[in-house]
Amino acid sequence: MYKFIICPDILLDLLLTPGWNEDNHNLEERTKNCENLKDLIDESKINIYLPPGIFQIIKANLEEQYSDSDRIGQEVRNLLNMVTTDLKVSQDQIYEESTNLRFPKNKNYSEEILLISAMKIQAYAIIASLETIQMAREIQNLNQDYFRDYNIPLLNLNSFLSSWSKGKEIFEDNENESIFVYTPGKRITKLPIGATSIDFAYKIHTDLGNRCKKVLVNEVEYSLTEPLQNGDVVEIVKGENGDIVEILKIENLKKIIWNDYCKTSAAKKGLKRCLRTKLQREGWKIINKYFSRKYKRQIKKIANQLFYQSDNEIAFKLGQGTLKIEELREIIEKKLLSEDEEKRHCLILPKDSLLKGNGNREFEISTCCHPIPGQRIIGISSSLSRPIKVHHKDCLKIQGLKNNQLIGIDWNCNQAKVCLKLRLINKSNTLIPILKQLEDKWKIEHNIHSVTPGKDSLSCVLIEMILTSNHYLNEIIDKLRKMPRVQEVRVKKIHPFRNH
Ligand SMILES: [Zn+2]
Repeated sequence: MYKFIICPDILLDLLLTPGWNEDNHNLEERTKNCENLKDLIDESKINIYLPPGIFQIIKANLEEQYSDSDRIGQEVRNLLNMVTTDLKVSQDQIYEESTNLRFPKNKNYSEEILLISAMKIQAYAIIASLETIQMAREIQNLNQDYFRDYNIPLLNLNSFLSSWSKGKEIFEDNENESIFVYTPGKRITKLPIGATSIDFAYKIHTDLGNRCKKVLVNEVEYSLTEPLQNGDVVEIVKGENGDIVEILKIENLKKIIWNDYCKTSAAKKGLKRCLRTKLQREGWKIINKYFSRKYKRQIKKIANQLFYQSDNEIAFKLGQGTLKIEELREIIEKKLLSEDEEKRHCLILPKDSLLKGNGNREFEISTCCHPIPGQRIIGISSSLSRPIKVHHKDCLKIQGLKNNQLIGIDWNCNQAKVCLKLRLINKSNTLIPILKQLEDKWKIEHNIHSVTPGKDSLSCVLIEMILTSNHYLNEIIDKLRKMPRVQEVRVKKIHPFRNH
């Protein structure tokens, strides 16, 4: 059975229906809430405990309201039908305990009775009016040692009913680790004790956290970094994306400051990510302000080169100040210089100076004729966006093509590093005759890159060799294929280079 303590205001509303004392504030809502609460009591779903001190307050109110003692007696009986008076704690005991407490100056008459009784019966919550909740909270704050072991949830009727409809289990595990707070739309949110409005905002939605600018707790502006209390109604005022880091004046990701602002890992992560995004955005602003398009294009390439994850990472470093704009400019200029250098030493160049526009295009050595630097070559261009295919001048593939499809090109280098992939049958001494052939007959400089034994009794061997115009790669491949125990020979890569 769920035990609750209810404040006199709500008990009187329950007994006499709201509006009995001409307090017509939110009458419709209060009436509906009282009916719902009454249903729960009538159906014995919750148990209301009435402390003696509260009973006396209600009786005094009835006596003030009605002069007819029969009427008063009737209402008292109605009240006693709704509640349990068996608290196993007397008014004197409560009074005695309360003498040890400290109170705010403008204390009402009943808050400490509610708090102490709730603690004695280990109630699930105190259901009370907003003013009573506020005062009870002040008393809790002034007497933290006394209330340390029992963090009693303080709920107004609205919050109670909505959390009840969300499921009773919410009252079951809340006692010492959690608090329950509410959105203005009465959505209930469970947070750890000590959680702040920042935790609340990130719990609702990351975007709400990032845009959080100000907070109203129970309709009053409240510090974003102060702990929330059970039953608080929390309204986040939204601003721009990133406002939260602006308002908290967070400037450095490295500082271990998150604990000062929030309790939940969602909020800590959210803040970090938000700050990171903000610094990144500032970095891009700097880039856009100080760099031309030509420079900006280089930033992506530089990111790879400097082992940054992406150009965003460079922007972030700039925004954070760990990379200076002058440093970045210097790196880009170096990169641009070395690119010019590379172009000047392009390994294959168009013959016709009129075709110099092709100078920026990439070349790809064809896999049919395998031309080697020093041999006569010709280029085929299928489209401007694709690399120019480099064929041997005698290649059969180009024989039928028209002149306008061909591009006159020439080597601007004299050697090529060629990587061959051979598949050999696993037997001792298979490789030795091949190496002898390369060394002694063909005088080819070579290097065994790797030998990988396979499951199928074949080994895969990668051989790198340096070839010049004297070598016809296709002839070499043909001859190797005819050697004993050679299953397959393929060109893995041709890499022309200049040997100074
Ligand atoms: Zn070819």
